[in-house]
Amino acid sequence: MTPAPGPSGPAPTGRRLAQLAELPVSVLRGVGPRAAADLEALGIASVLDLLTQYPRRHVDATRLVPPGALAVGEPAAMLATVRSARRPPGRAPRGRRAPIRVELEVGDASGTVRVVFFNQAWRARQLPAGTTALFFGKPSEYGGRLQLVNPTVEVVRTAGDEAEGDDDGAAAGRIYAVYPLSEAVRLTSVQVSRFVGEALDRAGTFADPLDPVWRQRIGLVGRTEAFTGIHRPRRMSDREPARRRLAFDELFRLQLALVLRQARLARDARGIRHVIQRPDGAPTLADRFLAGLPFALTAGQRGALADIRADLAGPRPMHRLLQGDVGAGKTVVAVATLLSAVEGGHQGAFMAPTEVLAEQHRLGIDALLDGLERPDPSARGADRPVSVALLTSRTGAAARRRIRDGLADGSVDLVVGTHALLTDDVRFASLGAVVIDEQHRFGVEQRAALRAKGRGADGGGHDPDLLVMTATPIPRTAAMVVFGDLDMTVVDDLPPGRAPIVTQWARTPGQVAGAWARVRDEVAAGHRAFVVCPLVEGSDRVEAAAVTDESARLAAGELAGLRVGLLHGQLPAGEKASVMDAFRAGRLDVLVATTVIEVGVDVPEATVMVVEDADRFGIAQLHQLRGRVGRGSDQSWCFLLSGAETPEVGERLGALERTTDGFELADVDLRLRGAGTILGARQKGRSDLRLADLLGDRDLVEAAREVATTVVGSDGTLDAHPLLADELRLFLEDDEAEFLFKS
Ligand code: ADP
Ligand code: MG
Repeated sequence: MTPAPGPSGPAPTGRRLAQLAELPVSVLRGVGPRAAADLEALGIASVLDLLTQYPRRHVDATRLVPPGALAVGEPAAMLATVRSARRPPGRAPRGRRAPIRVELEVGDASGTVRVVFFNQAWRARQLPAGTTALFFGKPSEYGGRLQLVNPTVEVVRTAGDEAEGDDDGAAAGRIYAVYPLSEAVRLTSVQVSRFVGEALDRAGTFADPLDPVWRQRIGLVGRTEAFTGIHRPRRMSDREPARRRLAFDELFRLQLALVLRQARLARDARGIRHVIQRPDGAPTLADRFLAGLPFALTAGQRGALADIRADLAGPRPMHRLLQGDVGAGKTVVAVATLLSAVEGGHQGAFMAPTEVLAEQHRLGIDALLDGLERPDPSARGADRPVSVALLTSRTGAAARRRIRDGLADGSVDLVVGTHALLTDDVRFASLGAVVIDEQHRFGVEQRAALRAKGRGADGGGHDPDLLVMTATPIPRTAAMVVFGDLDMTVVDDLPPGRAPIVTQWARTPGQVAGAWARVRDEVAAGHRAFVVCPLVEGSDRVEAAAVTDESARLAAGELAGLRVGLLHGQLPAGEKASVMDAFRAGRLDVLVATTVIEVGVDVPEATVMVVEDADRFGIAQLHQLRGRVGRGSDQSWCFLLSGAETPEVGERLGALERTTDGFELADVDLRLRGAGTILGARQKGRSDLRLADLLGDRDLVEAAREVATTVVGSDGTLDAHPLLADELRLFLEDDEAEFLFKS
C-alpha cells in the first residue's frame, strides 16, 4: 500500500489510521468501479472505512454439518452449492391464492437436500444454480426427503465468481466473517472478506497509539492483532479480545474528545466567583431561602449543594450534571444555586422543556421564595423582593417587552422559561447562573446558546455557571459517555415520608376494573387521579382527538360522576393553564392527559395514576409518568393497563412493578434497548460506537475515561501525543475538531 502523501511520511512505528483514511478502496486489487460503487453504497469509501466496517457475525465452518449428514429436527449450518432452482406452480386451497414457492436442490459431495422458500420470490434471483451459500435452519421431512424451509442464508460465492482459493474444499476449516450487506448491492461477504484481507496484508503492522503499559493494565491486545482478530480470526476465541480492543479505541476517542472539550471550556472561560459566604458573616439569600423551607434537606441534597457551592465560589464556571430520581427534590437545589448568583448582583435563568413545566416551576419558585428580599440597588439601604419572571412562547407581547427590559436592566433577578429564553432579543444585564431542567429534551447546542447569553452582545460579560438537571437516571458508565463533558453529582435519596407507590400491571378485565375502582375510591377520599392516554400514531391533532374521545368515554363510563378534565398539547395555552390550575386546586378530580404531564408536574394530592396501553411507552417514560404520584405522604398507586404479553413487554412492565428505583430501571432499559437511544443525536458519523457496548463494556468506559484524563493532562491539550491527536481528528466532525484543536 502506498504511504499517504504528506511532509512527514508514514510514522516509523507502523501504519496510522489517518493514512488508511486517505486511500480510496479502489487501490485494492479486485475493487473495480462496480465493487467500488457497491462499497460506496454501504458507506465505505476509504480503506479505513472498510476496516472499521466490522463483521456482523462469524460462521465457524469447522462446525458445519455436511448436507448429507443433516438430521431431522436438529438445527444446523451447512455449506452447499445450488444445483438447481425452480419456481413450481403452487397448489392453492380452493378460493385462496397459492403461496409463491422457490425450490432449490443444494448439496456437495456428501449428498443433496431440498431447500424451500415460501413467499420469497427474490430467492430465485439470489440463489441461481452454481451459487455457494451457508444455510441455517432446522431440517424437516417431507415426502420422505429432508428439507429446509425458509432457512437463513449467507451467500458465500456467486455463480460467476471465479476467485481462487474459495472452492468448497478450501472453505472447510476456516471461519467466515459475515459482513452487513444490503440487498441493493451485489457484493457477497466473501468478496468483502477478500478486500479486507488484502487491505490487512498491505497495511502490515499498525501503529498503536495506546502505550503498552496501559494495554497491559487494561488487558488489551495490540491494534494489529485486533484488526486481524475481528476480520480474520483463526479461532472463534480470537474475536472477543479483538472486539474489546477496538471497542476500547472507540470509547477512548470519545472520552478524549469529551475531556478535551471540558479542558477547552475551562481554559477559555471567564467565570464569576460567586458570593457563597458574606464577608460580614450575615446569611446569604441562599442561606435564608434554605432556612425558610418547611423541611430539612436530605443528605443527598446537602451533598449536591456542597459540590455546587464549591464550583460557584471558584473562578471557573460550573459545568455540572445533577442527577436525581423523580421527586428527589432537585428544584430547591436549583433555586439555591440561582440565588447565589443574585447574591452578587447577577441574574439566574431556569430553562424547562415545556410550558406546563415552566409555569409550574414559576409557581413553585414563587411559593418557595415567599417574601425573600434582596438589597435594592436603586434605593440605597432599602430592600425589594427577589423578582421572578416567566417567559415562554405564549407570553403576550406587552409582558414580553416588560420582561425583556427587566432582564436587560437587571430589575428581573430570576427568569423561568422554555426555549423562548434562547431568542436573540432576550439579553441579560449580567447572567450569573443557568439551570437547565430535564436535559434530555434539550440538545447540546441549546445548552451552549443559553450559556452564551452571559457574554452579552459585545462579548464583554462572563460565562455563567451551569447546572444541568436530569430526572431520567442513566447508568453511571452511560452518563460518562453522554454527559462526559460535565462534572457529575447524584442525589441518591428521596425526602423522608414518601409512601411507596404500589405499581400493578393490570392485564385481566378484573384487574382493570380494580384499577378504575381504586380511582373512584381515592377521589372519594379527597385525592386526585391521572389517566394517561396511549400514544397515538399520527399528528398531534390526531392524538388530541383520541384523548378527547377517551376522556368523554371515561366520563360517561368508568369515571361517571367524577369531575374529569382534559389536557393535551393542542389545547390553547390559556386553557392548558386553567385546566392545570383547576386540577391543582381540586376543582377537578381526574386529569385525562397525554404525556404532556410526563415531566415535573407536582400535585401532592394526586395518589393514583392509570396508564392506558402501557406497553406503548418505554421504561424511562413510564417511570417519569409514575413520578407524578407518590409526591405526598399518602399511599399511591400506579396501574399499567396492557394486555400485551410479549417477553419484552413482560420485562418492561415487570421491572416497573418490581422497583421504583430509577437507577435500577435505567439498567434494565439499557439492557433491553441498547445504547443507541441513550446516545441519540450525540453520536454521529465516525464516532459511532460500533463495537462498544455500554452495559457489557463498563470496565472499558471507566478505563477509557481514566486514560483520556491522564493523557490530556494538566495542560488540557494533546500536544504531547501527536499520534492520538492525529487519530482523534479523523473521527470528529469538522466543527468539533476545530473547536478542540484551535489554539
Ligand atoms: P424533582 O427532583 O423530581 O424535580 P422536586 O424538586 O419537584 O423533585 O421535589 C418534589 C417534592 O418534594 C416537592 O414538592 C418539594 O417541595 C418536596 N421536597 C423537596 N425536598 C424535600 C425535603 N428535603 N423534604 C421534604 N420534601 C421535599
Ligand atoms: Mg423536577
